[in-house]
Amino acid sequence: MRKLALLAALILLPVAFAGGQESTILLNPDRVFDGERMHENWVLVIRGDRISFAGPEESVDRIGLSQVLDLPGSTVLPGLIEGHSHILLHPYNETSWNDQVLKESEAERVARAVNHVRDSLLAGITTMRDLGSEGAGYADVGVRDAINKGIIRGPRLLVAGKAIVATGSYGPKGFHENVTVPLGAEVADGYDDLVRVVRSQIGRNIDFVKVYADYRWGPNGTAQPSFTQEEIETIVAVTSSSGRPVVAHASTAEAMKRAILAGVETIEHGDGATRDTYELMREKNVALCPTLAAGDAISQYGGWKKGEDPEPARIAAKRNSFKAALAAGVTICFGGDVGVYPHGDNVRELEMMVDYGMAAEDALRSATSVNADLFHIDDRVGRLKAGLLADIIAVRGDPAENISALREISLVVKGGEIVRQEEDSER
Ligand SMILES: [Zn+2]
Repeated sequence: MRKLALLAALILLPVAFAGGQESTILLNPDRVFDGERMHENWVLVIRGDRISFAGPEESVDRIGLSQVLDLPGSTVLPGLIEGHSHILLHPYNETSWNDQVLKESEAERVARAVNHVRDSLLAGITTMRDLGSEGAGYADVGVRDAINKGIIRGPRLLVAGKAIVATGSYGPKGFHENVTVPLGAEVADGYDDLVRVVRSQIGRNIDFVKVYADYRWGPNGTAQPSFTQEEIETIVAVTSSSGRPVVAHASTAEAMKRAILAGVETIEHGDGATRDTYELMREKNVALCPTLAAGDAISQYGGWKKGEDPEPARIAAKRNSFKAALAAGVTICFGGDVGVYPHGDNVRELEMMVDYGMAAEDALRSATSVNADLFHIDDRVGRLKAGLLADIIAVRGDPAENISALREISLVVKGGEIVRQEEDSER
């Protein structure tokens, strides 16, 4: 029995350790984006699960290399870090959000999530922050752990678990008062209840807490703040003493202000921000995850023919508010709310960031070093430098010239393991 177990373990060892010793792979592309800037004539060496060298070709030690991968015409970058996903949701034009939460079993949702995380990884997303299970309990924690144990393939996940909402604010709603329906998040109000719920979520080993600081529960379905200033401060105080951050869904200027003053680290969406809001964000070092692609997708699901019809008022307003965030110098997180649109199509958000006025190289920074810093994982991923984990992608073309080159993936490496390799990059 023991021998069998040992054999099984050997077979499961990553490619990089085949042959009894750590393999050493040299990547030789046209250019390297190291998470900060673009370099020509750079090469990269992967030793085991780490990067052992990233720098000018003339400085590399070629002794003991087990493989050289020439990548002519390609750019090598750190694996991308998606900042706002929902692995337990799929596009709303397939099934409405309400029906996903109300009618899909947790087993079905997890089965879908297994496909979603695979598609994300193959698209070059090697780390992903997931912003709430939306009615699927702690299934995100389980999927994260299954990936870390090597049971399924996917990005490194940072997960929020259930997310926290104020009573009466969140959906699905519209039912007879005697009907109990599953909610898309966990309800808590007031000091005692919030302390208990935050601690119970921390006890399930989530990576951060997500709070809905506002929601569309105002007159005529307008977004209005939900939690009071004191309530958000309670959530942040209890969460931060466990060493975890809080992030806030917020679309109104007032909810954004409350969340920023309470000490959240990122604002998700942020559509209604004013100039004062952005100045406060910059002053308090709070980043914006704009989720441009989500609103864009939802407008199209509602009948907008992008490219033919004029831009709806909502989209034009979002374009302007994103430009204002850039002008104010707010740190921009790459986070698109993927799940509203297909998993694996994450680049859509980066294309829109550039379309709305961001320099392509800044968008690349958002998707790598900026998100790594924001999510406190910069000691492991987000840059190409010796000592960090070998989470690396190669794409054909130059994404600093044309951001859509990120769709032309030729290589995906996670923790030194090649998880995708197109034929033209073999040697
Ligand atoms: Zn979201």
